[in-house]
Amino acid sequence: MKILVVEDEERVAQFIQKGLQEEGHAVDVSADGEDGGFLAEVNDYDLIILDLMLPKKNGLQVCREIREHGIITPVLMLTARDSVEDKVRGLDAGADDYLAKPFAFEELLARVRALLRRQSETKTPTLKIADLELDPMSRQVTRSGKAIRVTTKEYALLEYLLRNPNKVLSRTLIGEHVWDMNFDPESNVIDVYISHLRTKIDKGFEPALIHTLRGQGYILSDNAPHS
Ligand code: CA
Repeated sequence: MKILVVEDEERVAQFIQKGLQEEGHAVDVSADGEDGGFLAEVNDYDLIILDLMLPKKNGLQVCREIREHGIITPVLMLTARDSVEDKVRGLDAGADDYLAKPFAFEELLARVRALLRRQSETKTPTLKIADLELDPMSRQVTRSGKAIRVTTKEYALLEYLLRNPNKVLSRTLIGEHVWDMNFDPESNVIDVYISHLRTKIDKGFEPALIHTLRGQGYILSDNAPHS
C-alpha cells in the first residue's frame, strides 16, 4: 500500500516511515502542510497520516481542503494533545481516525491496518453476472433485485464463482480456494453446496447461471456451455 506521512518532526516522521516500510508499505514523507496537501492531491495514496500541528498549514486545514477537492483517501490524524475537542475538530474536518502522541508503534500499526482494510473493502466493486449481484462489503446477494440468504460457505463458494466467471472450475480448484489446501477432491461436499446454491440463485430465475460440465467441474455463465 502507498502511504503519505505529513509530519514536521523529523524523528517522528522517520520512525513512522521506517516502521511502515518494514511492514511492506511504500511511504512518502512531507514536512509541512502545504507540500503534504499538494502530494495528497497529485498522488493516489491508500492512506494519509497527518500531523495536526504543521508549518504553513495545519492538519485540519489540509484535511478540509483535500476533502473539498474530492480526495476520499482515509486520513489518520496525529496530535500532541489527547483532547476530545481536538478529536471532534479532526473528525469534523474529514479525518477517519485519530491518534494522540506519544503513541506506541503497535497502536499506530493497528489503526493503519484497520483503515487500509476499510479502504480496500470500499474499493471492491459489486460482483455481478446477468442479474445476480454480490456485494463484498455488505455480503449481500441479490438476484433480479431480490435478496437471497446464503450461509457463510455458500457465500464463499458463490464469491469464488463470481470472481471467475465463464471459466471451468474443477472440484480441485474450488476445494483449494473455498475450503483449504487439504480438501479431499473425492468428497461430494462441493456438489452438495453447488446444489444448495443452485436452488437459491437459479431456481425460478432465467437464465440458469451455474452449469455442470461432466468430468470437468462447474462454470458460472449466463450462456449455457456446450458439454
Ligand atoms: Ca507537528
